[in-house]
Amino acid sequence: MPQLLEGQLAVILGIANKWSIAYSIAQAFSREGATLLLTYLGEHQKEAVESLAGEMSVAKIVPCDVTREDDLTALTETLRSLGRPLHAAVHSLAFANREDLTRPFVETGRGGFLLAQEVSAYSLVAVARAVAPAMTAGGSIITLTYGGSTRVVPNYNVMGVAKASLEASVRYLASDLGPAGIRVNALSAGPIKTASARAIKDFSTVLDAVAKRAPLRRNTDPGEVADAAVFLASGLGRGVTGNILFVDSGMQIMGL
Ligand code: NAD
Repeated sequence: MPQLLEGQLAVILGIANKWSIAYSIAQAFSREGATLLLTYLGEHQKEAVESLAGEMSVAKIVPCDVTREDDLTALTETLRSLGRPLHAAVHSLAFANREDLTRPFVETGRGGFLLAQEVSAYSLVAVARAVAPAMTAGGSIITLTYGGSTRVVPNYNVMGVAKASLEASVRYLASDLGPAGIRVNALSAGPIKTASARAIKDFSTVLDAVAKRAPLRRNTDPGEVADAAVFLASGLGRGVTGNILFVDSGMQIMGL
């Protein structure tokens, strides 16, 4: 089988540990022949990301807190220093205060609302601006979203609103960057047990509901999301931009 991302350079933001969706995507990209630039958040994640980088083809591992303009400027510089075009960027990150994922949405404070928007939605705009100059031969920017953006999922709350903003940002970025051959899409994954997901109160109830009611009668495997990311990054996805692609066992089509 030919490798779908042979000779490509991809930057992946959002690996925290081996359960991270970003790690599954990094593994799939590496399997398909891509060279990776990985980022980590804070010194406590550095060692974990370095050890997970193990058998993958990784050009560099750099710190990047998406709320820090300096880190994003440094990312642009690192990409420039690699001296080759960037083909793909994966934005697989989000954050909200735990209390905003456990109490009624109506109690969300201004600070928690803005924090979720900044880290989980605005950061895509900032990252796109940081990586686009390196996408000299066109490219693919991929973010991760969830169906709680358009439907109410218990306790997803402020993150659902941030994902709605993220999905709208995908469309505006796709329109802006399309003329440069840069595609921007989101993968809407079904619920997956990761560190972030565990912060959502009663998350296991959501997993149970999907396993019972989704057309495929099972939960989403992170490898399925990763393979869809390969599609979007590869030439196979060359005509796709501004899309929200569901990888959720079909759960999003169900009414009751
Ligand atoms: P995860 O906890 O493994 O990953 C979240 C990542 O966000 C971590 O690596 C964390 O370091 C990073 N992050 C948080 N604040 C940051 C900041 N200021 N700067 C840089 N990075 C920061 O969890 P995950 O489930 O793999 O989440 C990845 C993405 O997938 C998120 O956007 C999440 O909303 C989305 N998603 C997850 C699920 C699910 O059920 N797990 C479903 C659909 C979409």
